[in-house]
Amino acid sequence: MTYVVTDNCVRCKYMDCVEVCPVDCFYEGENMLVIHPDECIDCGVCEPECPAEAIKPDTEPGLEKWLTVNAEYADKWPNITVKREAPDDAKEWDGKPNKFEQYFSAEPGQGD
Ligand code: SF4
Ligand code: SF4
Repeated sequence: MTYVVTDNCVRCKYMDCVEVCPVDCFYEGENMLVIHPDECIDCGVCEPECPAEAIKPDTEPGLEKWLTVNAEYADKWPNITVKREAPDDAKEWDGKPNKFEQYFSAEPGQGD
């Protein structure tokens, strides 16, 4: 199994998750982070750290799509281990539905 980042990270990107991961397996896109499924050791430390509740274990039903998204973009985006400021409007986007379909950017973030 692995943990995966899901819809509510899009345009929130608080980044509280990156600093607690013992194996540094978060990768940064322009407006979302993902977890590398082959690097995650399933420790679960990041899940309660995410203020947007966007991190889930892939053992929960219905997360196959997110496993695919996390695997694909972890290979394309730069590694991120140090937290930066969240976007100014992160709170406004927290909890909005279907952000991935409408707002996801496949562009890489800046990384560490
Ligand atoms: S803490 Fe949650 S919302 Fe913030 S970057 Fe990490 S997964 Fe995304
Ligand atoms: S479950 Fe552990 S290893 Fe996996 S991303 Fe979260 S903190 Fe990192």
